[in-house]
Amino acid sequence: MPTVQQIRAIIVQIPLGTYPNEHPHGRTLLDIIQDHPVWCTRKITRVRLGVGTNNSRARLLRVHHRGRWVLVSWRRAGSNFREPPSLPSALRSAVRLQIMAWRKRNRLNSACCLCGAAGPLHVDHSQPTFLAMSSSFLHTRTAPEEFLSHRWGKKFKPIDRNFSIAWQAYHRRHANLRWLCSTCNLRRGSSQAE
Ligand SMILES: [Zn+2]
Repeated sequence: MPTVQQIRAIIVQIPLGTYPNEHPHGRTLLDIIQDHPVWCTRKITRVRLGVGTNNSRARLLRVHHRGRWVLVSWRRAGSNFREPPSLPSALRSAVRLQIMAWRKRNRLNSACCLCGAAGPLHVDHSQPTFLAMSSSFLHTRTAPEEFLSHRWGKKFKPIDRNFSIAWQAYHRRHANLRWLCSTCNLRRGSSQAE
């Protein structure tokens, strides 16, 4: 079973597009999905390789299943894939709308604040980093231990609404956001990026 990195190296060499099962690229992508914990047993007729909207270097794999296109995480087919830790994922989900609002407000003067590149750009937490901010918030609180799953990862349960609202207020007060291009973002370490 190949690693996430080995799968990525294969996928970046396949041209973007839609491939039926019989096509060599389609077969390669289906072989990768054979190691996916959920999708390995499902009948797929076509696969489609595309790019992410904010990060054109990210490869998105979709499969045609029961009449519709479904996004599949090819990373999960990697032998060394680990589910992202739940609490950081829920903390990020809770402030997703704030980040989106910031993106919208700042899209006109968007350029990497380190090198000036025009894109593709990421929203980055700069001093405090996301990690530093969430640690200081959690320092005096008991964090939830159970979460709900959604498309982007984890989110807080309705019962933890007050915790989530307090975190959103804290984030609104302390977050210092800026644009970074993919190169500066990677150089800085993806764990700190939004
Ligand atoms: Zn840059």
